[in-house]
Amino acid sequence: MSQLPIPSIPDLGTKGDTITIFAGPCSVESSEQFDEVASCISDLGLTWIRGGAFKPRTNPHSFQGLGEEALRIMKDAGAKYGLKTLTEVMDSAHCELVHSYVDGLQVGARNFQNFSLLKKIGEVTADSHKPVLYKRGFAGTVAEWLAACDYITDQGNDNVILCERGIRTFETATRFTLDIATVPVVHKQSLFPICIDVSHPAGQRDLVPALAYAAVASGADSIMIEVHPNPPAALSDGPQQLTPAQFEILVSNLREIAAVFGKKIV
Ligand code: PEP
Ligand code: MN
Repeated sequence: MSQLPIPSIPDLGTKGDTITIFAGPCSVESSEQFDEVASCISDLGLTWIRGGAFKPRTNPHSFQGLGEEALRIMKDAGAKYGLKTLTEVMDSAHCELVHSYVDGLQVGARNFQNFSLLKKIGEVTADSHKPVLYKRGFAGTVAEWLAACDYITDQGNDNVILCERGIRTFETATRFTLDIATVPVVHKQSLFPICIDVSHPAGQRDLVPALAYAAVASGADSIMIEVHPNPPAALSDGPQQLTPAQFEILVSNLREIAAVFGKKIV
């Protein structure tokens, strides 16, 4: 796409010509559930699957994730469908274990300023350089976020993807307020790629496509989307997860929008 015809506005666009989708269920619930999503993602020619093994739940009585069993399920499905796997690590004590099973490690919003965890993840990934998807906290500023990246990168892994997932504001119409302006701001202030998680700020599946379209148009390098074979039966975040059929339509629309910007969805 051509530049805006205003010479004083520089191109704060994007890092590359691909947009990476991190799709998959909120929680890994069973091998059947995960397999179904993996099969859909692979059929669409995408690269990554996400899934929660250790879940940061507000209520300790809510489903906490299958732990190592989920990591095994992810590894098997990744191998079977040729997909890379991404999961959250919540606890410094789990870093080596999680690292040994998956291709990418996620830091969740609730651990935004868990500096010992960030440092440990940096240490564990220093040799492998596996990507670390680092989510913004509910109340974190971009300056705090970029500063804290050094806890990871100082250990020797600069393969960090920042992930905006919505912040807390006075607004209650959406689950969180998606700060789409972080995309050009992060591109202006750092060299890290930025992912937009469209599911957690939406909180409701019918809002997800519009946020995803906005993510592509804003220049995001990556998009996270939760997908579940049967959202009403999901053990976490059912209302915001797309069915595989809905996801397929969304990816097809995203591909058309991405093409306008000369980019490919992978
Ligand atoms: C998730 O992606 O599974 C998750 C728990 O997200 P967040 O940390 O953004 O709430
Ligand atoms: Mn979720």
